[in-house]
Amino acid sequence: MTDNLYINGQWTSGSGTRRGAVINPATGETIGAVTFAEAADLDAALAAANAASAGWARTSAYDRAAILKRAAANARAQAEAMAQAITREQGKPLSEARMEAGSAGDHIEWYAEEARRTYGRVIPSRQPEVMQSVMLEPVGPVAAFSPWNFPIGQLVRKLAGALAAGCTIIAKAPEETPTCAMILIQCFVDAGVPAGVLNLVFGVPAEISAHLIPSPVIRKISFTGSVPVGRLLGELAARHLKRTTMELGGHAPFIVCDDAEAEKVALLGAALKFRNAGQVCASPTRFLVQDAVAERFTTAFVARARALRLGDGAAEGTEMGPLAHARRLDMMQALVADALDQGARLLTGGARHGNTGFFFEPTVLADVPLSARIMQEEPFGPIAIVNRFADLPEAIAEANRLPYGLAAFGFSTRTDRTHAMARGIETGMMSINHFGLAAPETPFGGIKDSGHGSEGGSEGILSYLTPKFVSQFNG
Ligand code: NAD
Repeated sequence: MTDNLYINGQWTSGSGTRRGAVINPATGETIGAVTFAEAADLDAALAAANAASAGWARTSAYDRAAILKRAAANARAQAEAMAQAITREQGKPLSEARMEAGSAGDHIEWYAEEARRTYGRVIPSRQPEVMQSVMLEPVGPVAAFSPWNFPIGQLVRKLAGALAAGCTIIAKAPEETPTCAMILIQCFVDAGVPAGVLNLVFGVPAEISAHLIPSPVIRKISFTGSVPVGRLLGELAARHLKRTTMELGGHAPFIVCDDAEAEKVALLGAALKFRNAGQVCASPTRFLVQDAVAERFTTAFVARARALRLGDGAAEGTEMGPLAHARRLDMMQALVADALDQGARLLTGGARHGNTGFFFEPTVLADVPLSARIMQEEPFGPIAIVNRFADLPEAIAEANRLPYGLAAFGFSTRTDRTHAMARGIETGMMSINHFGLAAPETPFGGIKDSGHGSEGGSEGILSYLTPKFVSQFNG
């Protein structure tokens, strides 16, 4: 099927002939192709998003919410089809894909409700005849760029947030995983989203961002991806004075104090680290463990890493799938080799697994010196660093050493310690004594080089709204 683009209410194969290969990362086989949008297709999407903008902004929040609720129901009905497509094209185990696809309906429903709560305010004026009010209005057409690691999870937040706020949107979904994105778009279309309000494109990412961001039609950019690309798009957006939400990389610290239940925390840590083969922006990367429990934590963590069943995500019992790209294998290899050169200890893994597909062994490095590349760069793969600390201020200082600030995790039964971590760690999100990130109703986003703005929570819809101040004289 080549009609992968959705522009102005029509599925289309676009105006060009360029296609990208869609690969099953568990086998390395090409399983499909995706149409690339050309400049003419992007211009058609811009014209459609522009033409539909005023009508959608004027559609009442109640009517938008009703459409989104139907879209949520459709997404729930299509969850299994989306999950199967995610696993086939991205590689994660079906159980994880089902959780991701299964939550799409919740994200859409949350935003449907939020649409009806986009309250403005009345500001007391200095004269009795004057009424001062602030209305929240949709910012206008959005260009959204979502990545391949959560091909539904990242896309649905941008779509639902923009549409709930009354913005039209052109979404560039990941070329690696087109099928689930197309199913999700159809859920909105079947719910009654008018033509032009929602547009889906694929193509050469740099071409698409270079075309859409400078266009005067586009008023807001939402990007999820790497720090270097975020910087690039941020510069382009700044040149054209466009608002941005940037959800970029992370290098999350996972601090385990000596009063925590080391073995139990190790199992949770391993589950979080190796979820989606480590290709998660909020994945814990630096496990910082207090001396007294370091041995117990490490033994349990390594045992779990060794026991993980690797395989095709579609196969029963698979606990970790392949990396999404062949290029990520080279990166894993390079990071491990460099860490070992710098004096780190390899406790398990460290190599490609098998020679079919893009599997990399769950890997644990210990005592990794600060000079190692992996202590600065986000691995975005199944590599954990386990380093020790003596006292909590030292661990907090290490947590804050890097320019990243997306997610952080802390484990202790002492409230003085959990308080110190919650207050002291520079991060957009902090999860204490459990994993509690990424629900539709909670903000998701980072600080420092991890970006700015939130997706999810009440903050999520605000990023698609702009205040209009009205001062009215009733003399
Ligand atoms: P990459 O930097 O080439 O691409 C990252 C994402 O940005 C991809 O989805 C890609 O399609 C998109 N992209 C790249 N150049 C673009 C451009 N000029 N304009 C618009 N979009 C563009 O890296 P990659 O190899 O695909 O992924 C690995 C890195 O990406 C990781 O190191 C990780 O930091 C980052 N990443 C982060 C997230 C996240 O959730 N924050 C998700 C996926 C990837």
